[in-house]
Amino acid sequence: MSINLKNPIYNNEIKAREHLESLRWPDGAYCPRCGGFEVVKLGGKAADLGQYNCRDCRKKFTVTVGTVFERSHIPLTKWLLGFQLMASSKKGMSAHQLHRMLDVTYKTAWFMAHRIREAMKPASGSKEPMGGKGKVVEADETYFGKVSKENIKTVDEKGKPFKGSRMGRGPANKRAVIALVERGGKARTFHVAHATFAKVEEIVAFNIDRESRLHTDESRLYSASLVPGMVAKHETVRHSADEYVRGDVYSNSAENYFSIFKRGMRGVYQHCSEKHLHRYLAEFDFRYSNRVALGVDDTDRANEALKGITGKRLTYRRTSEARL
Ligand SMILES: [Zn+2]
Repeated sequence: MSINLKNPIYNNEIKAREHLESLRWPDGAYCPRCGGFEVVKLGGKAADLGQYNCRDCRKKFTVTVGTVFERSHIPLTKWLLGFQLMASSKKGMSAHQLHRMLDVTYKTAWFMAHRIREAMKPASGSKEPMGGKGKVVEADETYFGKVSKENIKTVDEKGKPFKGSRMGRGPANKRAVIALVERGGKARTFHVAHATFAKVEEIVAFNIDRESRLHTDESRLYSASLVPGMVAKHETVRHSADEYVRGDVYSNSAENYFSIFKRGMRGVYQHCSEKHLHRYLAEFDFRYSNRVALGVDDTDRANEALKGITGKRLTYRRTSEARL
């Protein structure tokens, strides 16, 4: 990771705002309230604050209206640096480190980190199906961290109660995550209450193009047959028989995703409550899906995250309810 701290967008509030404007309004400013293009940039002091006037609804606005930065007192220069740091740290960046690097309070850094994760999340309804004709999507699952008390399971996936030593141990009391990784493409992960075949089937149905090939290991989760026509072909490798690759059939991409995720969660984040897990998964999905191997460099990745700031205003109350 190398960041050019001399870049004026990290030091000059006006430059930072202009950078944000170029990302949000590549075709020119428009009113975030009514969508009108009949807008006038104000002069004088108002220009420094990036104020525009909308001729249609006659209201003033700036580039931050309707974004995660709206009504934030944190300078845009610090926001931009925060985005760059989170986007370019492979394993993520803790609120403690952000707090030191951005010179803001820990509480502010924690809040910023959650807002940056929110920006990294795909906008709802914008999810394209993964894979396609001739493409491979790998599916795999992992168990990570303890589930919250209220989610501890007392029965297994077949409804059989856990007894004795099985109680409170093993996958039953760990958070289950299912990953779909398009080979040579993006990742999409899901924190599920129970990793079951039915759940996998549901995730496959809603996320994978039917013409894709699906590769998994032969775990119980994928051993039953999917509804015919759900994917072009479902192929498995038998890890139990020491078979990890058979021709082009493998699930190494998904395993690689989990390895980055776990290193980040153990090394950087350490404590993450179960209800926030989906936010961290969105962060790791975002970086994986915009990785260097796909031609995305650190700056492109930060800019891509910045484009996700609209329509995702997150209030202080929503994130401050629970501590990390
Ligand atoms: Zn307007």
